[in-house]
Amino acid sequence: MSVKVIHWGLGAMGGGMAELTAKKQGITSVGAIDIDPNRVGKILGDIFEGQSKDVIIEENPEGVLSKEADLVIIATGSFTKEVFPQIKLALENKKNVICIAEEMAYPQQQEPELAEEIDKIAKENGVTVLGTGINPGFVLDTLIIALTGVCMDVEKIEAARINDLSPFGPTVMKTQGVGTTVEEFNKGIEEGYIVGHVGFQESLGLITKALGWELDEIKETKEPIISNTYRKTKYVEVQPGMVAGCKHIAYGIKDGKTIIKLEHPQQVLPELEGVNTGDYINVFGTPNVNMAIKPEIPGGIGTIAMAVNSIANVINADPGLTTMAELPVPAAILGDIKKMLK
Ligand code: NAD
Repeated sequence: MSVKVIHWGLGAMGGGMAELTAKKQGITSVGAIDIDPNRVGKILGDIFEGQSKDVIIEENPEGVLSKEADLVIIATGSFTKEVFPQIKLALENKKNVICIAEEMAYPQQQEPELAEEIDKIAKENGVTVLGTGINPGFVLDTLIIALTGVCMDVEKIEAARINDLSPFGPTVMKTQGVGTTVEEFNKGIEEGYIVGHVGFQESLGLITKALGWELDEIKETKEPIISNTYRKTKYVEVQPGMVAGCKHIAYGIKDGKTIIKLEHPQQVLPELEGVNTGDYINVFGTPNVNMAIKPEIPGGIGTIAMAVNSIANVINADPGLTTMAELPVPAAILGDIKKMLK
């Protein structure tokens, strides 16, 4: 018997996960849900390489979730409030859940009541919920936590994910303010439609929970990255003097000192101005630990892989809401997943 998976949300990430699960030994996709009129009613295997020709993408989740399945992968949105009804329905149908909504990496941070509710429903139904992804979910939290494992003590952590936004589409360009004037950018930040990175709060929550630290305060700054060059991608054009991205920094403060600094300057085509992408972690402690991954771990592939590679860990976990910090070390699933189940 293979592990049966339902896909909820078949966009850039969910679609990639449908193609990746199709390549894995011991995983079968048994259902698919999306609201996009270009997807509804289509055969999953006609759109996603290697996928089942027996699965029709449906709009109504109830029928799909009543099928026999072990786990639902939810890749529909970013915020806990937004995905809560989907998670609830999956749990009530006794399905484990992996969700890539940024806030679900640690929903306890900003939505403690919903997190408690999710934990309760999961336990009542004997299933597990995990939020994961590349960031939050790995680079600026799980990886940092793992590196502190060799430290006798830690005084301070500084980390940066310097990435290239050019593969991403119009939604990301809008939420990062790419292609705007500086004036428009500042207005967008003030009015809340330019948001920068979603997930700093969750990454800080995960790190501090794992290390047993308590912060007095979290501060965030968001500044426009002003381009000196002309930059053009498939989705956006940036003239010199306009905004190429958002430099978003979060500070975790204790006793007036920053003990965690997380930086995520996101822009299109940073190499045009000599900026190389990369993931950097510096742990100041005994000993100091410095890590540099150059170029950055690609966000799309990383998120797709992380969700699929977490399937066995989630099925094996105790019922309830869990986090990347509580599960076994993530690893690529290369063999038959059935052999990885308890
Ligand atoms: P996308 O816009 O390409 O795809 C979203 C898909 O979900 C679309 O097909 C849409 O029709 C579908 N959808 C939306 N609401 C739905 C609903 N109520 N019911 C059924 N289907 C619904 O987005 P994406 O790039 O695939 O990313 C998905 C989400 O994951 C985004 O919110 C993104 O910010 C987040 N994300 C998180 C990480 C991370 O590191 N944690 C990484 C990548 C993406």
